[in-house]
Amino acid sequence: MAIISEKVTRLKGIGAESAEKLQDLSVDTIEDLLEYYPFRYDDCRLIDVNQAQHDTKITISGFVQTMPVSSFFGKGKSRLSFKMQTGQHLISVNLFNQPYLKNKLQLNQALTVSGKWDRQRLAITASSLKFGHENVTNQFEPVYHLKGDLTTKALRKWIQQALITCSEEIQETLPKQILEKYRLAERRQALQYVHFPQSNEEVKQAKRRFVYEEFLLFQLKMQLLRKRIKESGNGIAQPYEESKVNHFVQTLPFSLTSAQIKVVSEILHDLKSPQSMNRLLQGDVGAGKTVVAAIAVLAAISAGNQAAFMAPTEILAEQHFQSLTKMFSQEGIRIELLTSSVKGKSRTELLSRLAQGDVDLIIGTHALIQKDVIFQKLGLVITDEQHRFGVEQRKVLREKGTNPDVLFMTATPIPRTLAITVFGEMDVSVMNEMPVGRKEIKTSWVKTDQLEQVLRFVKEQIVKGKQAYVICPLIEESEKLDFQNAVDVHGQLVRYFAPTIQVGLMHGRLTSAEKDEIMQKFMKNQIGILVSTTVVEVGVNVPNATCMIIYNAERFGISQLHQLRGRVGRGEEQSYCILIAEPKNEIAVERLTIMTETNDGFYLSERDLQLRGPGDFFGKKQSGVPEFKLADMVNDFHILEIAREDAAKLVNSNAFWQQDDYQGLRKILNKSGIFEGEKLD
Ligand code: ADP
Ligand code: MG
Repeated sequence: MAIISEKVTRLKGIGAESAEKLQDLSVDTIEDLLEYYPFRYDDCRLIDVNQAQHDTKITISGFVQTMPVSSFFGKGKSRLSFKMQTGQHLISVNLFNQPYLKNKLQLNQALTVSGKWDRQRLAITASSLKFGHENVTNQFEPVYHLKGDLTTKALRKWIQQALITCSEEIQETLPKQILEKYRLAERRQALQYVHFPQSNEEVKQAKRRFVYEEFLLFQLKMQLLRKRIKESGNGIAQPYEESKVNHFVQTLPFSLTSAQIKVVSEILHDLKSPQSMNRLLQGDVGAGKTVVAAIAVLAAISAGNQAAFMAPTEILAEQHFQSLTKMFSQEGIRIELLTSSVKGKSRTELLSRLAQGDVDLIIGTHALIQKDVIFQKLGLVITDEQHRFGVEQRKVLREKGTNPDVLFMTATPIPRTLAITVFGEMDVSVMNEMPVGRKEIKTSWVKTDQLEQVLRFVKEQIVKGKQAYVICPLIEESEKLDFQNAVDVHGQLVRYFAPTIQVGLMHGRLTSAEKDEIMQKFMKNQIGILVSTTVVEVGVNVPNATCMIIYNAERFGISQLHQLRGRVGRGEEQSYCILIAEPKNEIAVERLTIMTETNDGFYLSERDLQLRGPGDFFGKKQSGVPEFKLADMVNDFHILEIAREDAAKLVNSNAFWQQDDYQGLRKILNKSGIFEGEKLD
């Protein structure tokens, strides 16, 4: 076995204890150690304090001006302080827990100090101190994530050791053809650069190479998975009845937009084909995804199969149930709703009818993918909330029944970066066009003291026969959080609008039956104003509502605000969105400003990603956003795009599967285990 794949203890100076520390960093073999990259570099070039940024690490040189004073505090903690002349400035130097240095420092002594710069106090908290004005050797000092009492110094020493010991064994992973095409540094060279750079240029070279490599490997996995899903051969062909589908489309009360037509034909093509559909439908809020889903459902059923339609909330499942029942009223389709309120005997009965094939379409929440839900012949699964699903859950879904065709619909657009990483193994359809006659929703941002004007405006709209939503962040008053709550606001608005205008209250703690009743009343315009929490965030469709008022709008993220705003503007009337907000930081101001500037969900999602970063984009839970060692999905986006194109071409080329030049890549992919039982080499 090559030394490089042996445990780190094989290296001189690493015993069992050190190996354990490295284990905490998931570093097991020497190769792991070499691939434990720094996450940033400190610029240790000497700097003039005039140019130094507050609160950054800097390196300066100067002369000691006062004798150091030491003070002791806490258990074994101490501080040394003295003044140092650097350039035109007399600054303070503070050194913690190195009391022995006191006797070594003398007046007028030349020093080079690195540490954190406090611009206001003209003070530096030194993390390292060298005597003399020697040239700094490591101008760019790598900074590693460390745990426990592991030091950078020790880690660097071991990495150095590893580089020396295994230099000959470091193998290239990327094919020559790619190295040459993009002029990337070779792996051995890049490893040297990444850990021990002599210049900024070397740091850049190393990063370019490893970022590309990380993205390429990731995209290869995705593209291979995609290829495998497609070619697995056990998907179902659904020869749907074209005339039935055409007839349905013709009897719709509107004509489809060209975006809808394009997407429908992509989906129908997938249904017909024996390869499984694995498609992501991205559409902006209000672009009309539901009817696209309905057409797909109708097609699958006409081919003799069953369909399942999953919604993120019960309210939505209920709404889809009603609108699809209405749309399909002439089609003779057996539709059922499965929610948590379907219990006991009626649930058992429903499930057995489903298993016997006596139900054509079942609509529900996540309850639909539970084990005991069995289909006779499931042909199509549609989910209306892609992002709570990671690659794994999507796999579970695909494996339900006999590899049904699967369509994931997003509630709002996803930035392209995330679409090609988080959903990299899927085909993507985009609906970026609104039905004709829609007007831009006019969005404004007001302060709390303008509430009175806002309410007067709402009243005018209601008097014209329109309806309004009022969204609050909380259900009830909270001791901890000073935000508007739905119960109080409901009380205030009932008083304000009495007696002519009805105000309803909706939130997650109501029972399904209560929610249902309120929603029905709102749909029938028996309620003019609906005060609600974000339970109406996604999908709710009441086209007569033209006003969306959001209290404490600073509390919500961009995609959430966009989604909430999407509850209005669903008809041909001019609609309005009013954000009531007192933002406390710049990012919140930015969010609110962007919201007032555009209705374009695709643009908003890109801005949102820039403001939040990829890890936070989908919220904390099950984000499914992959983590890269060096690569940054947002900043290195153009490299990601290139790597994706390359990966897509590679998996379909003979060279990738056969030529020696690609062996390095094949080896890594094999090791990654994603292709269990299907070796590439
Ligand atoms: P979303 O994409 O946000 O899920 P919906 O499917 O709920 O949007 O559609 C929003 C509204 O637009 C619905 O009232 C729907 O009937 C209507 N609609 C959908 N497609 C069209 C179209 N081509 N022309 C006019 N109205 C449409
Ligand atoms: Mg929808």
